[in-house]
Amino acid sequence: MDPGLRELYQEIILDHGRNPRHFGVLEGANREAKGHNPLCGDQIHLYLSMDKAGRVVDLSFQGKGCAISVASASMMTELVKGRTEAEARRLAEAFVQLAKGEEIDTNGLHEDDIDRLQAMGGVSQFPMRVKCATLAWHTLEEAMAGGGGEVTTDDE
Ligand code: ZN
Repeated sequence: MDPGLRELYQEIILDHGRNPRHFGVLEGANREAKGHNPLCGDQIHLYLSMDKAGRVVDLSFQGKGCAISVASASMMTELVKGRTEAEARRLAEAFVQLAKGEEIDTNGLHEDDIDRLQAMGGVSQFPMRVKCATLAWHTLEEAMAGGGGEVTTDDE
């Protein structure tokens, strides 16, 4: 990994892990889902407010877990806020690919988004932590689908 990128990655984890963005219960949320990563004990409860056009107007999360799970959830909320469901799904797909160390399909993604995903995707260097990083994104997919259930990382 590029040393600059590794440094950026560590900074992002530290920053978002210490000061998670959009943390708490979202007033007026109309979608939610929970996620659980039994390997590490990470838990997340995600709240979404989606409008009739399918745009994620606002979102928040609560949870506890390791720094990577919290940082990943925090970064996810920043990236996804204001996106349509289709855009958010593209971001989730690309992030999961990156975190697993796969080539990403950049089709339809802004360069800015790719940079931000790549910074977090550095977690693919630490295979034990991949599920910590992808938990928030899988939970997002579940919440957008309106399932309202609980996602467990075991079924990957
Ligand atoms: Zn974890």
